[in-house]
Order: sequence, then structure tokens, then C-alpha cells
Amino acid sequence: MNERYEAKSIEPRWQKRWDEAGVFRAGRRPAAEKRYVLEMFPYPSGAMHMGHARVYTIGDALARYLRMRGYDVLHPMGFDALGLPAENAALKDGRHPAERTRENIEAFRREMKRVGFSFDWTREFATCDPGYYRWNQWFFLKMLERGIVYRRTGKANWCTGCLTVLANEQVVEDNRCERCGSPVVEKVIPEWAFRITSYADDLLSGLDGLVDWPERVTTMQRNWIGRSEGAEVDFAVEGSAEKVRVFTTRVDTIFGCTYLVLAPEHPLVAKITAARERGHVDAFVERMKATDAAERTGEEAPKEGVFTGAHALNPFDGQRVPVWIANFVLAGYGTGAVMSVPAHDQRDFEFARKYRVPIRVVIQPKGASLLPEGDRLEKAFTEDGVLESSGPFSGLESAEARRRMSAWALEKGVGEPVVRYHLRDWGFSRQRYWGTPIPIVYCDTHGMVPVPEEELPVLLPPQAIITGTGEPPLAKVPEFVNTTCPKCGGPARRETETMDTFVDSSWYYARYLSPRDEKVPFAQEEARRWLPVDVYVGGPEHAVMHLLYFRFWHRVMQELGMVFEAEPCKRLVTQGIVNGPDGRKMSKRWGNVVTPGPIIDQFGADTMRMFMLFASPPEKDIDWSAEQVEGLFRFLSRVWRIFHARQDAFTVPDSALAGASGAFLELRRKTHRTIKRVSEGMEGELKFNTSIAALMELVNELYQAEPASDPDRAAVREALLAIATLLAPFAPHVAEELWHEVLGPASRDLLLAESPWPSFDQALVVADTVTIAVQVNGKLRGEVVASASAGEAEVRALAEREERVRAHLSGKAVRKVVFVPKRLINFVVG
Ligand SMILES: [Zn+2]
Ligand SMILES: [Zn+2]
Repeated sequence: MNERYEAKSIEPRWQKRWDEAGVFRAGRRPAAEKRYVLEMFPYPSGAMHMGHARVYTIGDALARYLRMRGYDVLHPMGFDALGLPAENAALKDGRHPAERTRENIEAFRREMKRVGFSFDWTREFATCDPGYYRWNQWFFLKMLERGIVYRRTGKANWCTGCLTVLANEQVVEDNRCERCGSPVVEKVIPEWAFRITSYADDLLSGLDGLVDWPERVTTMQRNWIGRSEGAEVDFAVEGSAEKVRVFTTRVDTIFGCTYLVLAPEHPLVAKITAARERGHVDAFVERMKATDAAERTGEEAPKEGVFTGAHALNPFDGQRVPVWIANFVLAGYGTGAVMSVPAHDQRDFEFARKYRVPIRVVIQPKGASLLPEGDRLEKAFTEDGVLESSGPFSGLESAEARRRMSAWALEKGVGEPVVRYHLRDWGFSRQRYWGTPIPIVYCDTHGMVPVPEEELPVLLPPQAIITGTGEPPLAKVPEFVNTTCPKCGGPARRETETMDTFVDSSWYYARYLSPRDEKVPFAQEEARRWLPVDVYVGGPEHAVMHLLYFRFWHRVMQELGMVFEAEPCKRLVTQGIVNGPDGRKMSKRWGNVVTPGPIIDQFGADTMRMFMLFASPPEKDIDWSAEQVEGLFRFLSRVWRIFHARQDAFTVPDSALAGASGAFLELRRKTHRTIKRVSEGMEGELKFNTSIAALMELVNELYQAEPASDPDRAAVREALLAIATLLAPFAPHVAEELWHEVLGPASRDLLLAESPWPSFDQALVVADTVTIAVQVNGKLRGEVVASASAGEAEVRALAEREERVRAHLSGKAVRKVVFVPKRLINFVVG
């Protein structure tokens, strides 16, 4: 074997061998238990970056480990290829998105192959393949039939940069576009939507079962779905037939309501405002119309309002309360009206103080000192407690009071219990080109007609001109638009909007099961075999877009009888970011971008993989460090050298192992403890870093060893084989190479990548060792190292293998053996 570790000469060779042997194909072990390991597929908008390399390395280490554990592993890869980035890039340089995407995919795949990821490439697809997106269209038709897809016209989120509608989930902080960061405005526009809100309760309760998902992700989903139980209550407007309907989650505080607030845009404002107040009410309304909603309701925005001159009556006690309008209530949210209870809501409290509205305490803390009168209250008491001054409900605790009071409102016809959600239906039609065409035609006679299933796919025409004007580019392709009505054969026009790219990623994990199937999206028996995904690795930034949509989609597929459980994935691993060497997020702006390509050129893929796994556990951020990378390269070189230096151990038979004693029994113990520690790191929390650290310790130990006998060398060989095998998930190429070196020609037809993971000997791991004196006829002739629990037979066997002892025993009959556990063995010979 070479004296020097040269990754370049090793890595391509093993990649080819693995590929030819097809070791990464799923389904090779039909009798074994399955494991589906998946990483979020990439959007190939440029070269592979460090973030990608990290996610796939994490998933790959796990997939390789599970394969060695004997599982039938599905570990596929594909490309999320439709959507705005490719189209926005086309706007800049005029290149067709299809052409660019194909090129990017080629480059991406080449890079991934260089890293040696153990993907089953026979299952690869890209979402821009008509063979894939036809099934998006098929799902659309199925969901349309069931009313899960519908057309609506209403206020939609319009990105002023991408010039398209966005889903609520795609609008991030400060009302900006999740993709391009441009401001998002409201626009009244017809659009297609998925009725995801019908699944709100199921999606919510399903979270309780996702015990192997990071809590922050389930919490984000819970908050995004945002279920709140409350009541709607009608306040009659005094001297008018009008009613103000308010929503509250704290109906238990309603006896403390001292004013109502309407949104300035509320339709009642014009009707109920008293003549003498009209001037400043109108002025206030005009000013609010000109102010941005986010600005009006922001934390720091001062609370301001005006009195309308009107009063309303509390349906619970007939109290007269003034009606105000204020900046912090929005027409689009809830009923556009709120009841204000200043004693028990801090915002209402501040407003009441400012405008000198009375403050009335109706909830007292349970088991604590009583609150002072409202005018001496220092801040609102917002927790649950015990009701007072609340008519027949006084003395009840808040939760019970809420139930009884909303039931009372229902009975009296002045309100009802309601459940509210923050979640909105998912608007998924886009006024863009590079997406799945929506399979609908419009006929003058029949209106909207779905394209029949057998006519799918509706192909995306290549000749569209990408304009970026906000008009669907497909509308300008007459060959696409003009078609015939499936019902009457008369002239008809195709829908020219396309689907959100998040549709593509909502079910791709299931397409890997039958990627070439032309009859169904995926075969049922494959779904039974492989779903749900066992481990899904990806970024936490997908918590409320992709990860919510794919849970929704999976439930729809369950309704369609295509899958057999409610949740798509058992365990989610969210990996941290790879920052630049300066600790800042990698960005061209900081000039701190490092890419995998040059690192692989310089050190090899194995070193890069080791860095990704050793720097920290998967969920933590890491800073790129050239020193650490070099350190790991040195470690692999050190491993290489110790194998080179100990070639004399390669051919020693395993049978010699039993004779190992002294320092070499210690080495054996270290080897078995390492197997245990590395294995533990691969399970549970995936502490690959501690696994690698354990391997480093064993390598150090091996450097200290000076084997002199066959049993010594057998212990060394055992350690070498363990190192090669345990290294396989992390640095698979060098591991494979070294493993074959030790085993020699006998291993020619085997591959480490599919060989069994080593097991450890419990006795060597658990027990402490002791040194036992060996005497012959009372004279010290040697010593053996044995486990503290070793019995007479075991110690005797060890002692008889010691050369000096053997010399004194040879040719003599052992008449008696005296054994003192942990201390001494004496052979009495004659
Ligand atoms: Zn945008
Ligand atoms: Zn027709």
C-alpha cells in the first residue's frame, strides 16, 4: 500500500465500484426491515454550497450506518426545479429556464457524486419533468372533485418584486416576500386555493404525535395554525337597529368592558357616528387609510383613537358603553371590532388611561391578594382568576366562566362560541411561467371545465416569453391558450396561471417510491413498504411552509387511499448553518463564501465530510475553519500511516486474539469500548462528533502499541478493522480502501459499504481489568491481565498461554491449581 494518503486516487475508484455493484439501491434486502432516510432536495440555482454539503453528509452518514446495520435503506435524491428563481434569472439574461435548469442539475449531480453520497440514483427525477408534474395536475383534479381545491376572489398577497401572488406563509417579517424581499401589497385578484384550513384541527392534533420532531418546529406550526377558542358577542347600538359583533377569547371579562373599539374602516362607523363628532371621526378615518397596517399596529405605534359619539349595550348586563375607533383595530382581522376591558388587557388599559375611560376590575387573582379599584390599578391583570361583579357568573373560575358564558350568549341569541385559526387557505396559483400548468379550460358554454385525466399532462409550452410584467406569460402563447372544450368540443381557452413551486415539494418523497410509473403517482405496495419517511433532514427555515404543506398533502393522500398513516415523516432533523470563517453567514457581501469544490480538490471528499460531522452535532451552527479541515485531513493521514506501519498484523489469524494480554488486552478493551461509543453516537441524538472523537482516541492508542507476538498483532488487527469499519459512515472512501488492505484478496468481491456494522464484546466493555500474578509451585513466573470478573478457567487459560509460564509447566502434570480471584493463580506441579 502507498505510504501517503492520497484521496484523489482513492475516491473516484470506490465511487465507481459502489455504483457498479449497485449497493445503494433500495429494495436489495426485501426480507429486512426498511429505513427511509431523506434529505430535502435542492433547488439547483447554482453550484452546491456548504449548506447543501452539510445536509447531505448528515443524511448520508446515517444512511450508510443503517445499511451496515442490515436495514433495507431508501436514500434517494432529486431536484426541486420549477419556480421563481429560475424564472427571475431568465429575466436577467434571457436564457430559457429549462436550459439553465438542466445545466444546473448536471453540475449539481456531478458535485454530489464527487462527495460519494450513497444515493439511489436510479430514482432521481426533477420536478420540471412532465413525468413528474403531470401528477401535480392529477392531484389538482382529485382535489377539485373533493372541493379541496377551489377558485376564490379576494385580497391576495401580491409581491411587488416577483409580480405574482404569494401564499400567507411566503410573506415574512415586515410584509416582505420570502423569496426576493420586496414589499408585499394586498391586491384583489381571483386565485386558486387549497382548503388547508379544513385540516387545521387534524394538523394541530397530529403535532402531538411528532415526538421526534424538534420542538421549535412543532411550536412554530402550532402558532402558525393559531387555534383560539373564544366567543362572538353582539352589542346593540343604542338608538339604532345596528349591532356591533365582537370576537373575544376572554368572554369571562365581559362585565369589565367599558368601551368598544371599531376599526376605522368598519362599515358601521359611517352609520353610527353622531353628527357632532363627524368632523374629527372623518379626519381620523382618512388619516388611517393613508397609514400602512403594519405601522398602525406595530408594538411601538402609539395607541390613538376618537369617540364616535355612539353608545352600545353590553348584552350581559345592559351597561352602556361608548363606541370608539382606534388605529390598532384592523377591518381585515376578525370582526373588525373589539370589546375593551382595560382592567384585564394591557393595551386596553393604556388606551383607557390616555382617554380617561373607566377601568373596572372583574377578575381577582386566585389565592393572592385582591386587586385595588380600577382607578388605582397600576397595570392590567391579564391572567385567569375568579370572577367578581359579574352578575350570576361571579365566583366562577375563568375557564368555567368562559364555557358557561358563551353557552349563555348562544341561548339568549346574543352570540356564540367560536374557534378561530390564524391559518388561511393556501393560495397556490401564480402569474408566472416556470411552474405546473393548471389543468383547467374555460368554455363560453360550459364555463370552467377540468381537463380529463387521460389528457394529462398539460405540457408547459417552451415558447413562452418571460416578461416579468405580472401578466401570466402563458396568456401570450396562442398555441397553448386556444384549445377545445372537453365537454362540447367547441373553442375554449386554457387557464394560464401555474402552480406554486411548494406544490412540487409537497409530495416528492412519495414519487421516489415509483419514479418511472406512468399509471399512478406511486404504487400502493411501495407506499406500504417505505412510508412514512423515517428520518428527514433539512433546514428549520421550512417549519411553516414546506413542512406544513407536506403534512397537509399527506393527509389528502391518506383520504385518497394512497398512503396508510396520517403523518409523512417520523423524525425530523433540522441542521444548523455553515457560517463563514469569520462566524458570519456566508455571503458575497462579506467575501466569506467557501464552496465544497476546491476543498474536495485539495483534501478530498472524506476530509470535507469529516469536517461537517465533527465540527458540532447536526442541529448546531458551525463556522468554517480551514485549520479544522486541515486537522481532519491530518487525522485521516495518520489513520492511513498506522495501517501502513502495521501491515505485519494483517495476516495474523483471529484465533490468536484470545491470547492477547497486558497492554494488548487493554487495546482490545479500548477497541470494543470504541465500537460501543461510536455506535451510540449513530443512534438517538446523532452525535457524530462524539463518534469521531472516540475513533481519534483509538487511533492514538494504536500509535502507542508495540506488538511483539501474534496475540499482540491479532489485537492490533482487530483495532485496525474496527477503525476502518467504524469510519465508513463518515469517510467512506478511505475506510473502504483500508478495510480491503487489511482483509487482502479474500475481500475482493465484498464491499465495506454493505458489510455488517461491528458488535462489541460486553465483557471487554464492562468489566475492569486486573493484573493477576501467575505462580508455579509458589514462585512468580509471570502475570496476566484479565477482567475483574474472570473465573479460574478463564485465568488459567490466559496464564497457560504466557510463554514463561508455559516453560515451567511443560512436561509436568498439574496436580492442583490455587486461584485467588483478582489476585493470583498458582499451579502446583510435580
Ligand atoms: Zn418576491
Ligand atoms: Zn363546452
